[in-house]
This record gives sequence, structure tokens and C-alpha cells, in this order.
Amino acid sequence: MLTKSGPVVSEICASHGDDRSRLMDIAMAIQSRLGCVDAEAVDVIAERTGAPRVDVDGLVSFYGFLSSAPTGKVVIRLCNDVIDEMQGAGEVATALEQELGIRAGETTSDGEFTLERASCIGMCDQAPAAMVNDVIVTDLKPESARALIRTLKKADGADDLRPLLVESPGDGNNGHELVNTMVRNNLRRSGEVLFAETNSGVALENAVAKSPEDVIAEVKAARLRGRGGAGFPTGMKWEFTRAAGGDRRYLICNADEGEPGTFKDRVLLTERPDLVFEGMTVGGYAIGAQEGIVYLRGEYAYLRAFLEDVLSRRRAAGLLGKNVAGKQGFDFDIRIQMGAGAYICGEETSLINSCEGLRGDPRNRPPFPAQQGYLGYPTSVNNVETLCCAARILERGASWFASIGSDGSSGTKALSISGDCKRPGVYEVPFGTPLRDMLELCGAGNTAAVQVGGPSGKMIGEEAFGRTICFDDLATGGALMVFDDTRDILEIVSRFMGFFVHESCGYCTPCRVGNVLLKERVDKVRAGQAQASDIDYLIELGQTVKTASRCGLGQTSPHPVLTTIENFRGAYESRLVQSVDGRLPSFDLREAVKESERLSGRRLDDSKV
Ligand code: SF4
Repeated sequence: MLTKSGPVVSEICASHGDDRSRLMDIAMAIQSRLGCVDAEAVDVIAERTGAPRVDVDGLVSFYGFLSSAPTGKVVIRLCNDVIDEMQGAGEVATALEQELGIRAGETTSDGEFTLERASCIGMCDQAPAAMVNDVIVTDLKPESARALIRTLKKADGADDLRPLLVESPGDGNNGHELVNTMVRNNLRRSGEVLFAETNSGVALENAVAKSPEDVIAEVKAARLRGRGGAGFPTGMKWEFTRAAGGDRRYLICNADEGEPGTFKDRVLLTERPDLVFEGMTVGGYAIGAQEGIVYLRGEYAYLRAFLEDVLSRRRAAGLLGKNVAGKQGFDFDIRIQMGAGAYICGEETSLINSCEGLRGDPRNRPPFPAQQGYLGYPTSVNNVETLCCAARILERGASWFASIGSDGSSGTKALSISGDCKRPGVYEVPFGTPLRDMLELCGAGNTAAVQVGGPSGKMIGEEAFGRTICFDDLATGGALMVFDDTRDILEIVSRFMGFFVHESCGYCTPCRVGNVLLKERVDKVRAGQAQASDIDYLIELGQTVKTASRCGLGQTSPHPVLTTIENFRGAYESRLVQSVDGRLPSFDLREAVKESERLSGRRLDDSKV
């Protein structure tokens, strides 16, 4: 229990310079040390940093990894995305609940354990997986989950759980002493750009030998487009940021890959951290920034010490700090900002708010981040993979990069493949590769559907497997979820909609309410209680949510519904109630009044039903 926490909270605030813009770090440190950020802690933080109390409260309630109520010393977050559920996360959850004697969302009476379900922890290639504090455990089975709890009960308050939980570390840098995780890279195919051998430092040397404008011109000539999903030309983004003027600019690396089914940045950060940081430094030089920030998702906290060590090494080598790479006047350094379990922070303006120590609410645009971003200064937000590509372009040249891939999409793409296939993992392939080739490579069989780009992307069927991975055809931030013909498409859609309901920030009504209504109507179809008009309703409501929502989350959240109606209409129609002469053959009054009961908060007398 947290009592008399003031001195500890004060000490943590002081160690962050009582800086209001570091509220995320302060709150995370308090959560980690005291198990919660309670009302007393909020008071102290507000007083010391000068932040309004309501802002501190709002921050704590917004992020999944922060809590105002005490949590257990050990917090277990079992991933509950679609892929994990397909691989048996439900049975693992039951085993954990039985072993701990609590349900998900509860804490044991001795205050030792809290059990939670998490939206996606980026381990779909080794599911079911969970976070135990910041230690990742993978490939769980009910028996191993029970054994895990027995081990933890013997931990006796140990601060570092890794030695207890990691019997044999994963491959590559997962075995590095600062990582020491059972996570496996599952890197199935390396391409010419991202996972090829590189000469660290060469890109930066080449960059600082040019003018910043010429670096931007090189990236533009390579036709590099952002790998996060939107595909905006990187050179143009850097040009706009540089042109915005002012005396300070920032470059932020978006390492918050929260889209379920996406885990390729995890492998890049593990195996190519120098390339990521080199790309950031090149970008910083190009736009005229003095500081870069890596926004690392809370689920990848296990990589933090390792990444900090790489940064230290680069500072010692003169690749960060003052006069970087010997270029007089080019001062640039990088800090890591931890996220705290909020999918919406993958959206660049939400991410900027989070970096500033605010709730991750999206901002209105304009102004765009390139004009007015972090702390009000021009900011370029780039994806991990994009920055790796930028470094390689400066190392090998624009024409080399542009010669790889397809006409409108130069270079390679790292894909995270999971689901019903023999070889889930990360594949780097040239743009223009047909989806069918990817299915063959990953050992998929009897594939009925592929979700391209995670839940916010689209679900396509066999007739589209000949299409190619590129910006002009099947554009994706990097996720391919494979479903064979034994899967229930509508169950998948329902789970995706549940994800969006959970992750909506609630700011605007179309997204906050619309996603709930979409999920309910899909479940009505699943239950065999819907009519043809319900499909029309889903289409109409889905379009409304898409067009009326304020940010990318709501503008894409109806995609699971809309794309499955478009490509798998039979899955809906086969479950409709068959009408006889325009009338329903049976009528379930209890079901029919359910929504009215919910809205009115009253229940109809059972004797009348
Ligand atoms: Fe928030 Fe959804 Fe509106 Fe975006 S669309 S601002 S996530 S409620």
C-alpha cells in the first residue's frame, strides 16, 4: 500500500528537474516504485511541476500502464489480440486465474499479483505471450503459465525477475546481457536494405559531407516514403520541417508499433539499433535539429537498457553529442521517451503530446507537426523502418535504393507475418512482391483471408492474393495476419472492433459511440438475430464513423466491418434470420429490448417478456 509517499514522489520529481514536460517519466517512475500514482502522489507532482492537478490526473487515467489504485508487486499482462486468442490465450488466462485465485483486472488480497489483459504486446509470432512487469514470456501454455506463477511465488520480492523467468534467451541480441529475454527474432528473410550488413558511421560521414539541403535531395531522389502506413514522402517531410524556421527543431522516431500483428520494428530495434540511430542523426542533420527522441512503446521496455547502451557507445565514438562525426556546429543527441500502453500514441500528434507529458489525445491539424510539433517547435516524426532506410540511402546512394522495389514504391518492406502459417516472423522483401509469394514463404495453407495492415487495414480473400505489396496496391505498415478456412470471420471482426472500442480516446462521439454500435451489430449478426437491413446499417454507420471521426483511429476503425462486408459478404448473409413473407419466423423480445434497456438503465419485467 502506498502511504506517506510524498518524499519518494518528491525525490522522483526532483530527479527529473521538476520538469512539467517530463510528466510521463515521472509518473512511470512512481508507478514502478510505489505500484500506483494515487491522489497523494498526484498532489505532490502537481505542486512540484506546476502542472494543473487535473492534467496529472488525466494523464494517470489515460495510460494503461499507470494506475491510481495500488497494483500488485508483479503485474502480469496477458496479450489478448486475435492471434494470441487463436493460439490459446483464453486457456492460458484460465490457468493464470485459477493459479492466482483472481480474475483478470484484479489484484490478489496479499497485494503480490495483478492480472490484466493487454491489447497487443508485439509478440504475435510467438503467441500467447505476456508481460511480467517488463519481462516478456512467450509461447505460453496452460501448464507453463501455472509453472510461471509457482516460480514467481518463490521470487520473494526480487526486483529483477529476468533470471527467474528466462531459462534460455532468444537468438541474436535477445541474448545480450542487457536484454536477456526469451523473445525470438524470427527473422525469416533478410533483404538488401534493412537486415543486410551495414558499415556503421558511413551514412553519417556521407551526410555531413553534404549540405543539409543535399541530404534531403538525396532522400527525395531515392523516393523514400514513410513506412508507418501513410506513405508520405520522407524527403518532403524533412524539407517542410527545415523550412519552418525557428531556432529549434526536433526529430522523433516513432517506435510505438501498437497495431496488432505488427512486430517488425521490435526486430529492427533489437538487431539494427545503430542503423535506427544513424538514420535519426542523418535526419537531425537534414532538418537542423539538436535533439532526437525515440518514443519507445511501454511493451518494449525490456529493450531500453540495451538501447541506452548503444546510445552511450555512439556518444563515445563521436556519433552523437557535440560536433557530430567531426562536423563543426552539428550538435545532436537522442533521448528515449517511454510510452505507457496507449495504441493511439502511434498517431504522430498523440505521440507528440505524450512526449510532452500530456494525455495522448490527437491534436487538430493544421498546424502540422512540421510547422508546430514538440513543445511548439517544427518536428519531423518518422517510423523506425523509415529511418533505417534513410541511413542506407546515405550509405549506398539514392539510385541504388530507387533501383529496388516497384515503380511507385522504392526499396524493401519489412513484414510481420502471424496467424495460421508454419513460419510466422519478419520478412524483408522488395516492394512489388505478390501476397501469394508471402503466403508461400511463411508456409500458409488453406488460407481463407489475410488481414493486411492490422485491424485498421483491410481483410482480403483468395481472389486478391495475386495483388502486390506496395503503396499503389496493398499498402501496409507491415502486418499480415493469416486466417485459414477454419476461422470464423465474424468472430475476428468482433474482436477487432472490441480492440478499437478499448483504444478509442473517447474525445469524439462518432468514434467513441460508433465503434460500440458497430461491434454490437456485428455480434447480432454472429448470434443469428440480424436481417439484411442490419448489413446496410453496418455499412452506413461504418462510413459515418470513418468520415466524421477526428483522427486516424476513428477514420480507420470501421475497416474490419466494411472490408469484410465487401469481401466476405457471404459470412454475414449466411447468418441472417430468414424472413417468411417479409416477417421474421421468430421474435426474441428479450433480445429486441436489450438496447433500450441499456440506454434507459431499466430492465423490463421478465413476466412481460
Ligand atoms: Fe479519439 Fe477516436 Fe476521436 Fe481519434 S477518432 S480523437 S481516437 S475518439
